[in-house]
Amino acid sequence: MGGGAEVAATGGGPIPAPRYNPSQVLEFRIDDVLRLRKPHPCGSYDWRVYRLGADIGIRCLGCDHRVLLPRSTLERRLKQFLTRGPQV
Ligand SMILES: [Zn+2]
Repeated sequence: MGGGAEVAATGGGPIPAPRYNPSQVLEFRIDDVLRLRKPHPCGSYDWRVYRLGADIGIRCLGCDHRVLLPRSTLERRLKQFLTRGPQV
């Protein structure tokens, strides 16, 4: 992990995690870590983006299984971003 998963509060209030908002256009980035609404059969809810394109490629953090999903399908299954990849 490259760090940055934990955000230290610096005097202000807690920083809310980015949440899925249906009215917001989602931008996926390489190395985003996503939490989905339903678990993979291996038990993990968390996936890392490894490919962007017409379909989004994600890899299960539990078992390294890779799948390609249409963006619209992934947006529906997404619960939240855990960490964001670097902005391009
Ligand atoms: Zn899995």
